[in-house]
This record gives sequence, structure tokens and C-alpha cells, in this order.
Amino acid sequence: MELDRAAELVGAARRITVLTGAGISTDSGIPDFRGPNGIWTREPAAAQQFTLDAYLNDPEVRRDAWRRRAAHPVWRAEPNEAHRALVDLERSGRLRALLTQNIDRLHQRAGSDPDLVIELHGNMYGTVCADCGSPGSMRDALERVAAGEEDPECPVCGGVLRSTTVSFGQPLDDEVLRRARTATLDCELFLAAGTSLSVYPAAGLVGLAARAGAQVVICNAEPTPYDDMAAEVVRGALVEVLPALVRAPAREQPPD
Ligand code: NAD
Ligand code: ZN
Repeated sequence: MELDRAAELVGAARRITVLTGAGISTDSGIPDFRGPNGIWTREPAAAQQFTLDAYLNDPEVRRDAWRRRAAHPVWRAEPNEAHRALVDLERSGRLRALLTQNIDRLHQRAGSDPDLVIELHGNMYGTVCADCGSPGSMRDALERVAAGEEDPECPVCGGVLRSTTVSFGQPLDDEVLRRARTATLDCELFLAAGTSLSVYPAAGLVGLAARAGAQVVICNAEPTPYDDMAAEVVRGALVEVLPALVRAPAREQPPD
């Protein structure tokens, strides 16, 4: 069965780079975008509000964004068994890097080494001024929202405050992308989990890994455009699939 074969590949690999997406956090109560219960599947118009341009130029979009942020399930979410399985993989000494498209910090909260986690799309825990670049904490900004400010301004210059996430149409941080590519080129096995592999450049890392000779394993509830490139594709819930993959004992390796 696919799961057994995938577990064998994972068990045999000495350097594994993992790429996660929103699907690893759905069982923590954070909806994904494109899964069956995804935010965009249920409400396609919501996608438009995620453009940075609309956010910067339309105060109503910002007020709506602050209301959504204040009520976001991320503030109540706890890591699940799938996040914890990747901590176990790290403890086996074979995790090269954990690339994530998620902005929820659940990998770090589960116990993943922050130095191994590469947040491709930033995270929701910080703010930055779109005008002067001053950094701040999301907690402070949300306290101001709770106190009645609908669109809190930068405390330094009065500019527009945004979260430290990467919006659609915005480039990824160069250094973050460089580290992600290096880890992708430097693995024997590339495991993509809980991602529809439809957001670039993150999705392109799968092709990069395959071209560099890594084996690709994809674990996702639905098909992805990269399934044909994968040595194994495993469907099913990640809270079950990832612990099973990682629990398989690492094989004894002959010395290099
Ligand atoms: P996506 O919504 O495009 O795809 C998620 C995939 O996960 C879907 O194909 C779905 O079938 C699968 N899935 C959902 N629950 C699953 C489960 N329990 N087990 C197995 N598979 C499951 O997500 P994406 O590819 O990460 O791209 C979405 C973008 O939105 C990312 O860029 C990310 O930054 C952002 N986002 C982040 C969060 C988060 O931080 N938790 C949540 C929503 C969106
Ligand atoms: Zn400012």
C-alpha cells in the first residue's frame, strides 16, 4: 500500500526536506484555502481581498482585514499530531529543513527547531509599517483593535500597518527563498504535505527537488499538479499519515 511504501522511503532517507501547507493545520481548526472546506472553496470572492494593493488603498478592506485577524482561529489553535510527527522526524536527526507556507507558527509551537523552520510566507505574529518599515507585534496591534481602533496606524509615522505575511502578488524574501532552495537541493527525499502545490514559487520547489535527484513523496487529501513526479503519493488525513510515515524505524545506513 502507498503508505507502507512511502514509509519505507522515508525510513531509508538520511536527509529529508519537508514542505508543508495549510492542510497540516486544518485539524488544528485553521481552514485551508482550496480544500473541500477551504475559505475560497466556500467563498470565492474572499480571494480578492487578499491582494496587497486593495489592502493598502482601501480603508474598508483594512477594517475588514483587522476584524478577520482579531477573530482568526490561529489565536486559539494548538499543534496537532501531524506537526508533532515532524518534531519526531527532526529528533531522528534526518530533517534537513522544514519549509512551510503556513503563517500560523504551529510547527515552532509543536517543538520544531526554529532554525530549521523556513517560513516562506512569513507569519501572523508581527506587524510592519507599509510606509516607514517599523516593526511591531501583532499582539499590540490587536489590543488596539480590541480597544476600539478599527484600522490601527503605525505608532511611528501614522502609516498603514500590515502583518508580516507575504500577500499575493508580493515577492518572497530573497534570503528566505535562497535558504529554501538550498535545502531543497540538499536532500535525498522531499516530502510535501498538506499543500495543493498551486502557489508559486513554493510549489516549484517540488520540481527543483525532483530535477536534483531527490525522491518526492506527496501526502495530500486531494490530487496535486506534481503527483506524476512523485515516487509515492499518499492520500488521507495528515494526523494519521505523518505519524505513520515517521514512526517507521530509520534504516541502518552503511557509512559513506
Ligand atoms: P491550499 O489551501 O491551497 O491547499 C491545502 C491542501 O491540503 C488541499 O489540497 C487539501 O486537500 C489538503 N488538506 C486539507 N486538510 C488536510 C488534511 N487534514 N490532511 C491531508 N490533506 C489535507 O493550501 P496551501 O497549498 O498551503 O496554499 C495556501 C496559501 O494560503 C499558502 O500560501 C499559505 O500561506 C496560506 N494559508 C495558510 C494557512 C495557515 O497558516 N494555516 C491557512 C490558510 C492559508
Ligand atoms: Zn510607519
